[in-house]
Amino acid sequence: MTVTQQQVLDSLAKIKSPRGVALANANVLSAINATDGKVFFSINVDAAEARAWESVRAEAEAAVRAIPGVTTVMVALTAERKAGAAPPPPPPPPTPSRGAPGVQPVHAHKPPQGGQSPMARQSEIPGVAAVIAVASGKGGVGKSTTALNLALGLRDLGLKVGLLDADIYGPSVPRLTGLHDKPALNDERKMIPLRRFGLAIMSIGFLVEEETAMIWRGPMVMSAVTQMLRDVAWGTLDVLVVDMPPGTGDAQLTLAQNVPLKGAVIVSTPQDLSLIDARRGLAMFKKVNVPVLGIVENMSYFQCPHCGTKSDIFGHGGARHEAEKLGVPFLGEIPLHMAIRATSDAGTPVVDSEPDGPHAAIYRAVAGQVRDQLKGVIAAA
Ligand code: ADP
Repeated sequence: MTVTQQQVLDSLAKIKSPRGVALANANVLSAINATDGKVFFSINVDAAEARAWESVRAEAEAAVRAIPGVTTVMVALTAERKAGAAPPPPPPPPTPSRGAPGVQPVHAHKPPQGGQSPMARQSEIPGVAAVIAVASGKGGVGKSTTALNLALGLRDLGLKVGLLDADIYGPSVPRLTGLHDKPALNDERKMIPLRRFGLAIMSIGFLVEEETAMIWRGPMVMSAVTQMLRDVAWGTLDVLVVDMPPGTGDAQLTLAQNVPLKGAVIVSTPQDLSLIDARRGLAMFKKVNVPVLGIVENMSYFQCPHCGTKSDIFGHGGARHEAEKLGVPFLGEIPLHMAIRATSDAGTPVVDSEPDGPHAAIYRAVAGQVRDQLKGVIAAA
């Protein structure tokens, strides 16, 4: 059954806004995406008003969900602080076991000023011992491939692992895992992550079309990611690996300071330009006091699929040198190899499909170092 934008607007007609006018007339709605029964839109308000709008967001979500044919709804509340305005108070802690899913208001897309701790907005995700980010200074360096294979390496070490694809600008986890289903809701109206390879997996790509995701602005990104972290029934996990959006702009910084990260892994290729980007990534995590677990050099050297000969076509070793210079761990070198590309693109990641091969061993070695650094946190949980 097709759901139209007009049906969505009609369903919102009776909802009053804190501004005294109907929600549909309050000039706060983004474009409405309604595709294949999946509806997504955001309510954009000023940060100072955000708290008052949370109940409106929940009402809107419930109203849309009641439309016949709607299978998934995500209404995000995005709040932008006006330039020069005082930072708003931190949001209340989330109440995960109550009723319909909700998005914690996102207060700003600028880093906090005036001494407010960036960590003030964070709270743990119940049941999840450690959330770690996999980040890169730019796209196309193999961040998502590394995130998935790292998650699988951690799985092979006996840990319970989840993967959240927060790369809203180009979610690739559906392609890398071959998963395209829509997540169902549980009794508490939380999304149930999809499962494959023994991982709990969630991606914005399961909810919206790729083109839709591309045009999201920073605050919308944050709101959607917050919802995917908190309104998903992750269950008990030792590690939740977050595949971050590439880059080190405002959206990434906000994400890094809003998600309760226990550490970050930076993926870089050996080329200089990529290393400059990686350096920015390091600086970003440092700024928000997230420990850098280390740097992975991806496409480190070319390994001939026929004869196995190694060629340093990119001037291999740059990331190791950079890691030493910056005093962060160097986690490993992953070759540029057809098998990694082919398995990624076929939705059968190499650690799972060729567990006894040399590439799986490299990813597991990276995972081992990450696990060792998180041991205290996992044991404490
Ligand atoms: P990003 O998340 O940084 O944009 P992806 O993980 O989507 O990058 O990888 C981009 C492309 O490079 C994909 O086609 C992927 O299969 C390929 N790729 C990633 N790492 C490797 C590697 N080590 N060897 C060969 N191909 C790789």
